Amino acid sequence: MLPVDQAESILLNLVHPLNGESDQEVVGLLTASGRVLAQPLVSQLDFPHWDNSAMDGYAVRYEDVVNASIDHPQELEIIEEIPAGYAPQCTIQTGQAARIFTGACLPKGADTIVIQEDTERLGNRVKILSTPEPHAFIRYQGSYYKAGEPLLIPGIPLEAPEIAVLAAAQCTHIPVYRRLRVALLSTGDELVTPDEPLKRGQLVDSNQYALATVVANLGAEPISFGIIPDQREVLKNAIAHAIEKADIVLSTGGVSVGDYDYVEEILTELGGTIHIQAVAIKPGKPLTVASFPHCLYFGLPGNPVSALVTFWRFVQPVIKKKSGLLPKFWQPEFVKARSLQNLKGGGKREIYFWGQLQLVKGEYEFQLAPGSQISGNLINLAQTTGLAVLPIGQSEVKAGDFVQVLKVR
Ligand code: AMP
Ligand code: MG
Repeated sequence: MLPVDQAESILLNLVHPLNGESDQEVVGLLTASGRVLAQPLVSQLDFPHWDNSAMDGYAVRYEDVVNASIDHPQELEIIEEIPAGYAPQCTIQTGQAARIFTGACLPKGADTIVIQEDTERLGNRVKILSTPEPHAFIRYQGSYYKAGEPLLIPGIPLEAPEIAVLAAAQCTHIPVYRRLRVALLSTGDELVTPDEPLKRGQLVDSNQYALATVVANLGAEPISFGIIPDQREVLKNAIAHAIEKADIVLSTGGVSVGDYDYVEEILTELGGTIHIQAVAIKPGKPLTVASFPHCLYFGLPGNPVSALVTFWRFVQPVIKKKSGLLPKFWQPEFVKARSLQNLKGGGKREIYFWGQLQLVKGEYEFQLAPGSQISGNLINLAQTTGLAVLPIGQSEVKAGDFVQVLKVR
């Protein structure tokens, strides 16, 4: 039985992230959401593209208005009106100004904006009623970003802010890592699909749906292999097929010590290298991991809570790392939270309690899911947002004390 941190480091070392060249594809701006950038991007544009005004007002020469005040207004001739999107034609000479609006290009000769509120308009002349700071309200070309500098680096997830940057930089063909293919299969003679009538002794395959959801949420492509009965040859064929098709295979069930638990033997027969056979984690002890030349296989425990807990703790960072993300995006996120209930530990395994993480007055609180915390009870798993961790050797966390909590969404 491997300690959790050891199992985690074995796993993360097994991951070969996708390759920025051979595993990339090109997508458009509206399909880039949630994808991972595969290549460094550079823009040929300066940001801002032109010197422009940050306010509605008048573009002036600072030297003309240096002594302006309410008592000594400075009067200037307005020679041009410059709305946003318009290229100014004139050059501002001594004694002249241009009417200008937010975002509009600064005309030649001007070096300062006087905001509208500090002026009085008289036909084609304007009175300046106060002295601005030199260069006031000018957004200079290239002051945010200079053409040719690195714009976005590979390994970052593309969400609204990054997509806005790409759009503004006119990058319409975006190199992203391809989606990981994650095969899902549920093992067990007792399993039926959610739309099949349930006979006595049967159980609905919920794992397939839970895993398809979390896999898709990570931007990977779930490939469903359905329910596979506990028949050695059938299961072996299904596993062989899944390994061939996918980057990562997630099966559930069949990894315990029961007579119908064939997964580990089959993985060995198929030439896999077994790296993990059991982990000191509760729930989730039977987690089995094997590697194949182009595929990583996770035999997750069958119980629905165990399957999701081991997914969140071990599979999620693996999928994220393999997707090409930088470490700061794939490392599991633990926070310190005040437990609202007593958490009882003990035994030879690290214990994961499920419940809700809430931020209350700047401090995290962990609310244990009410009811039975056993791995077969998936009902109280609904609304879980965090897993509180009791390390081996710690017998309890008292209500009001702090506990480490793994954020799961
Ligand atoms: P196993 O390790 O195959 O014995 O599975 C452990 C328990 O998990 C079984 O007794 C089932 O009750 C449950 N189980 C297995 N597979 C699934 C599944 N796909 N969905 C929901 N529960 C499952
Ligand atoms: Mg089974």
